[in-house]
Amino acid sequence: MIQITMPLNFLGTVYREIRQALIDMGDMFDLLEQPAEVQDRPGAKPLVVSGGEIVLDRVEFGYDPERPILAGVSLTVPAGKTVAIVGSSGSGKSTIGRLLFRFYDVTGGALRIDGQDVRDVTQDSLHEAIGVVPQDTVLFNDTIRYNIGYGREGASEDEIVAAAKAASIHDFVSQLPQGYDTQVGERGLKLSGGEKQRVGIARTLVKDPPILLLDEATSALDTDTEREIQAELKAMGRGRTVITIAHRLSTIADADRIVVLEKGEIVESGTHDELLAHAGRYAQLWHRQEAEEDGDDAAVAAE
Ligand code: ADP
Ligand code: MG
Repeated sequence: MIQITMPLNFLGTVYREIRQALIDMGDMFDLLEQPAEVQDRPGAKPLVVSGGEIVLDRVEFGYDPERPILAGVSLTVPAGKTVAIVGSSGSGKSTIGRLLFRFYDVTGGALRIDGQDVRDVTQDSLHEAIGVVPQDTVLFNDTIRYNIGYGREGASEDEIVAAAKAASIHDFVSQLPQGYDTQVGERGLKLSGGEKQRVGIARTLVKDPPILLLDEATSALDTDTEREIQAELKAMGRGRTVITIAHRLSTIADADRIVVLEKGEIVESGTHDELLAHAGRYAQLWHRQEAEEDGDDAAVAAE
């Protein structure tokens, strides 16, 4: 039995602080979706990234052994190139990202970065090498400076500002009365979806990882904001190995290669032009989305 001897208002403050800390941790776990079962192998070495080539070698995986999600996926993302993964919702796209991060272990085949099986390297070094921009960037209840600098411990003010500039969020931050000291998150300034994604991009630029995983990074944004942010995402991808997962195909059409995943299998692979010429699943998705966008434009014109 804990004896309560502290003044109640003090307890109230402590309670709020603890509660907030738990919320922050909760956000972190959502962000990383890290189940505890994956452990470093004894003697695991840090990942050594030379170029950042990613190889999925007949990868099999299911969250539940009864229900396979990836059924022998083989895919190479050459160092410095961008590969887009498209396909219906539930086809296993995000799962590939989670396996790359080793939040789960493959049940068959292997996943290698520059020749090193992700099961053989330390998770810290693996996570350091990969930057993620998810659909919704989680903001901590702290300042904008903290939220960007969080990308890498010890980031300098210059690095934070340079990243904010590259993510085209610096001008916005500068005109706030408290600038980079502005509190954001649940208890502070609420940022728009586009502003949050720009903070996420700046955070990733501060981290400066050789490998990038963009999982529906612009899917939650309206088409205009999405279009604006594409330029910053593209610039961020230069000189890095990028896996980009997208719903709107117009955002990935210029990827070095596009793979179509259906029910855990790669059913098509090629450049945008090749896949259109192939007149298969990708072409079907592309024409459908084009028709939808024309429909939207027609609706706007009619207003
Ligand atoms: P996508 O990103 O292509 O929409 P996901 O890779 O997120 O698809 O999911 C693929 C399948 O795995 C879906 O059927 C989904 O319901 C299932 N799934 C995703 N995450 C989990 C999980 N943590 N536990 C069990 N099943 C999951
Ligand atoms: Mg997904």
